[in-house]
Amino acid sequence: MTTHEIDRRGFLRGAVATSALLIAARSSPSRTFAAALEAQRHFAPVKVARNRVIRTLVGLRPYRPEGFLIEAERLGQKLLLHNYGHGGAGVTLSWGTSSLAVDLARDFVQTRRTRSTNRRFAVLGCGVIGLSTARLLHQRFQDGAGTVTIYAKDLPPYTTSNISGALWYPTSSFDPQQVSANFSDQFRLACQISNRAFQELVDPDYGVRWTDTLELIRNEASLERELFGGAQLYPQTEVHRDPERYFGFPYARRFSTMMIEPHVYLRALLRDFYIAGGKIVVREFRSRQEIARLPEPVIFNCTGLGSRALFDDQKLIPVRGQLEVLLPQPEVDYCYISGSGYMFPRRDGIILGGTFDRDDWSLQPNPQQTTEILEGHTEIMKQSGDQ
Ligand SMILES: Cc1cc2nc3c(=O)[nH]c(=O)nc-3n(C[C@H](O)[C@H](O)[C@H](O)COP(=O)(O)OP(=O)(O)OC[C@H]3O[C@@H](n4cnc5c(N)ncnc54)[C@H](O)[C@@H]3O)c2cc1C
Repeated sequence: MTTHEIDRRGFLRGAVATSALLIAARSSPSRTFAAALEAQRHFAPVKVARNRVIRTLVGLRPYRPEGFLIEAERLGQKLLLHNYGHGGAGVTLSWGTSSLAVDLARDFVQTRRTRSTNRRFAVLGCGVIGLSTARLLHQRFQDGAGTVTIYAKDLPPYTTSNISGALWYPTSSFDPQQVSANFSDQFRLACQISNRAFQELVDPDYGVRWTDTLELIRNEASLERELFGGAQLYPQTEVHRDPERYFGFPYARRFSTMMIEPHVYLRALLRDFYIAGGKIVVREFRSRQEIARLPEPVIFNCTGLGSRALFDDQKLIPVRGQLEVLLPQPEVDYCYISGSGYMFPRRDGIILGGTFDRDDWSLQPNPQQTTEILEGHTEIMKQSGDQ
């Protein structure tokens, strides 16, 4: 078959499908064109195969069963603000918790407004939390006199944030049995602030886009659970009972959320930080005393899992995650999340997750987990009807 023939056939197939849609929309006045289009929605199957794996990633989620910590404390004359422990949702929550942490500094900064030294900020950590905090400091306090310096041991692309999936989906960040009512309020607020902030960044330049997402469900009771952070954050949520279409699962909750390409996104934040006059110092801290000697009077701690050793937070533990990345498939334009794993289509590859190993510090890929992840997703794709 020549290329010309392929193009012609492709065009004819497209034309026939479009005519069918137009007829369907016209023949039933109650049925909108959008609904007819929706009925044609095709979920292209993911080609799960060992020889399509381009890399295996391992990262440690900074998890606190009680949830992330947003707290201010005095460090001698200085103000130290903690913003860490986001578990499996640090990218998702980043603008929200950073906004709450920056709010805590407002009084300290404003009460000594006349002294420009109080507008010198240190941010420890250059993952998604440190970068978002630094950007907010620029936006809220920089008036010519202020400076923001990030101090970090590792910079993108060598942070946990670069390993992230990263779907906008605030899950796996706390144990519901162990959180306070105050935390739950803070969490919802952080979700709302962050969701709104990411909407402003939907742009290929930031690697943020809206995506159709399927939560594949076997147990009807799971449908009762509200989507994390509040239903209003997920436009177009619908429940489908159509196993043939939804990979053999009896129920599928379908909604729109945002997909973030971590490498593109973190690079864009770094660029924005530099453009606004930010400075980065590569440095590892080993104690509070070292931190107290920094020249800046206001210090934000965004060191993620590093806070365990640095501030002796024994509640903070790693939850190890392993991801398999397959060759990109541009035709895969949806995400799915199921009990046995998740799939996020990114420009740099199809992300297959994921494992959740509590208190496991190993950064080595586990070949047994590679096999299990590939088998789990192969099983889901067997039901796609296209294979
Ligand atoms: C497999 C996997 C999948 C994930 N998927 C998602 C997802 O889909 N959606 C989502 O929202 N989140 C996801 N996450 C979670 C997300 O990646 C984390 O919550 C987030 O990256 C935490 O960001 P952070 O800035 O706190 O930490 P990090 O990215 O680890 O940054 C910490 C920074 O602090 C520095 N630092 C640490 N200790 C010191 C020290 N002593 N001195 C100086 N600097 C120090 C580090 O060098 C680094 O710069 C996933 C995580 C993993 C592992």
